[in-house]
This record gives sequence, structure tokens and C-alpha cells, in this order.
Amino acid sequence: MDGAAGALADPAGPRAGSLALLADLVAGGDVVILSGAGLSTESGIPDYRGRSGQARPVVPMTYQAFTSGAAARRRYWARSLQGWQRIAGAVPNAGHHAVAELERRGQVTGVITQNVDGLHQAAGARQVVELHGSLDRVSCLRCGERTARADLDRRLRAANPGWHARATRFSPDGDAVLADDQVAGFAVVDCQSCGGLLKPDVVFFGENVPRLRVSECSALVERAKALIVLGSSLTVMSGYRFVRQAAKLALPIVIVNHGRTRGDALARLTVDAPLGQTLTALVARCR
Ligand SMILES: [Zn+2]
Repeated sequence: MDGAAGALADPAGPRAGSLALLADLVAGGDVVILSGAGLSTESGIPDYRGRSGQARPVVPMTYQAFTSGAAARRRYWARSLQGWQRIAGAVPNAGHHAVAELERRGQVTGVITQNVDGLHQAAGARQVVELHGSLDRVSCLRCGERTARADLDRRLRAANPGWHARATRFSPDGDAVLADDQVAGFAVVDCQSCGGLLKPDVVFFGENVPRLRVSECSALVERAKALIVLGSSLTVMSGYRFVRQAAKLALPIVIVNHGRTRGDALARLTVDAPLGQTLTALVARCR
């Protein structure tokens, strides 16, 4: 179709032709959404990449680093005590509300999100698969027990009375940047059931998405009539694979994102415009 549609950015909003095509797809129903960090930036949660697609200086925690030693975990939890506040305090933006509304209308049948902030559900969406887990939960690496992050937050604060540090930067996985001396005295707490190591219930870089979760997402794409990517540069294979699957199934793919993405060549349409505004206009148009 209009392969050149995404060649230009639309800073003032999507062009009428792009919006019309997007609205036609959504009106046809059975749409699956794949969302990434770009959808949550309007909620004040920074993404890993700016418009240029260049990685920001915050390096995400890897599974290897997290499990490699006590120092890395101390650094993670100290930083995360700050970073999680930002995520826990965030509220859904117009983009999340638009997706939830399209689901209520039955036009969107599922949301696969790479985000770990819970904002789709906070906006009211129900058919959400959290591809990379959720920062809201913590899991024990020994006994597997899942507990609420809010409980751990209380325990960490109790174990570190008077500890307060100022984070200089935040990232979408709840990490934050702290000076080394602020991390040194931080006390980590372990699983209350077995004493094992606690890890946020999220998929770190270098870790695989659980297979059942991948199958669940594949099944959603399999049943869909279209795939719409919202706010992801598709750099990470865990999300990009569903774009490839959709392309193999010859489903129309639309990508709404700031900047180029790895999936652009597979997309019928790419829209480089603000997400909240674009999705709000889409909802109005599909009414
Ligand atoms: Zn345990």
C-alpha cells in the first residue's frame, strides 16, 4: 500500500490519510496491540531511546549482572527503591485510555505489552499480556513465590531507616541512577518464606520470556486481523518476533512510533506522531 507514508514525521499529529487507514483497520475489529515504552513516556516514564533511536545512558540491568553477586543486587534494589516510586506514582495517559476504550468496544481483542508499568490495566484494559512481567510483583529465585512489590518496598524501607538518596535519572524498568557511595550501605532483604534471593518479576535483558507467555501472545496474533505497534522501536526480539509472525500471516501491520523502527519494512503504514493525540483522534474517528 502506501509504503512511503511513514517517510515524514507528523509532529502536529497524524495526517488525515494515515488516520483514515488506521481507523479502517480498527473498525474491522480483531486488532491486537503491541506496545512499548514510547506509549508510557507521556505518563512521565522515560524510555530507553529518544527520537533518534540512540540508547540513553542508563544501561538496563541484565540477568547475568543481577545474579552475579551481592553488590549488583544491592545496587539494583537501592536504585529501584527510587525508580519504583516514579513508576508506582505514574498514571495512564490518553494513549492507554484510548487502547482501553477500543478494547471495551470490542475492536481490540488483545494487548501485548513490553512495558512493566501496569498502565494499560490501570486504564481499564483487561486482555493484557505482560510480555516482560510487572514491577508490581517480586518473585523468589529459590521457591518461586510471588509477592507484592509494595510489601517489599515497606520491608526495604524498614531495613534501611534514614536512607535517602537522590536519583538523577530513571528508566522504564524502574531502575534509577545513584552515586556509588549512596549504594554502599544499602541493606537488601530476602524471601520471607525460604530466605532465597528476590528478583522483580520482570524479564531482565539477557533473560528469556517464559514459553507459555510467548505462546499466549502468538495465539493472539494468530487470531487477529491486524497488528498495531504503539511506541516501540522493536529493537528487542521478544516483541519484534510478533511483528514477524504477523507479516508471515500477511496481516496488515501499522506502527505508530516516534522515530524509525526495526519493523518499518514490514508495515503497511508507519505513523510518526505523538501517541496520545493520535490514539485519541483514532477513537473519535472509529466511534
Ligand atoms: Zn523463597
